[in-house]
Amino acid sequence: MLINPKSDGHVHTRLCHHATGEMEEYVVAAIAKELEELIFLEHLECGIRYREATWLTEDDFAAYHCEGQRLQQVYGDRLRIGLGVEVGYNPRQAAEIIEFLQRYTWDRVGISFHYYEIDGHHYNVVSRRKANLDPLGKQGVERVISDYFATLLEAVEVLPGTVLCHLDAVLRHHPEVHFAGAHRRQITEIFQAMLEKGMALEVNTSGFSHRGEQYPAREILEEAIALGVPLVAGSDAHRPSEVGRHFERLP
Ligand SMILES: [Zn+2]
Ligand SMILES: [Zn+2]
Repeated sequence: MLINPKSDGHVHTRLCHHATGEMEEYVVAAIAKELEELIFLEHLECGIRYREATWLTEDDFAAYHCEGQRLQQVYGDRLRIGLGVEVGYNPRQAAEIIEFLQRYTWDRVGISFHYYEIDGHHYNVVSRRKANLDPLGKQGVERVISDYFATLLEAVEVLPGTVLCHLDAVLRHHPEVHFAGAHRRQITEIFQAMLEKGMALEVNTSGFSHRGEQYPAREILEEAIALGVPLVAGSDAHRPSEVGRHFERLP
């Protein structure tokens, strides 16, 4: 089996300030969908200057682990519950990120890159808002994409990651986005670095909702499979009803 459709390895909760639902509601939803495993992958960002905080505070993470352990006690006989983290990489804060990760035991460390810096301000590369798309477009679509993949490669190399999340999410809402030859070579380099570290690639089923196809695109997935990169599934749920969304399409 290329991928386990009974494991949803990427869900968020209200703790990140842009999702809804308590952790327990996600657990109940996963059991209702007959999943065998659910891994929370809450957002960590360090040193990001943005109009709102879309990630957990230190206190939020403490509460998260506490509640997660309670849920493991209560529901452990019906569902494997993992406590993970989706690390948004910030090259300026690598040491702080690594230091924070060492404070807890994680069942999964997902690596993402959400915030691109221009002149001391951060812009969300997966946003559909004009306030992000315009400055990123001005910076140059080709350049932002190249920088995105270069930063992801660095993140794979320096962080203790176990899964790479939404690899091709960069500028997903920008009309000019496409991955040309040089970008595809960057993706190959990322896969090679992942293989050295034993990292898996996430197949993110939120893509079925957004564009009718999983993330990453099929030809990128085919390359990962050909190289032997393991695949794991994630719904990227931001509300309990999205747990395991479109997993029937994974096979
Ligand atoms: Zn999120
Ligand atoms: Zn996520």
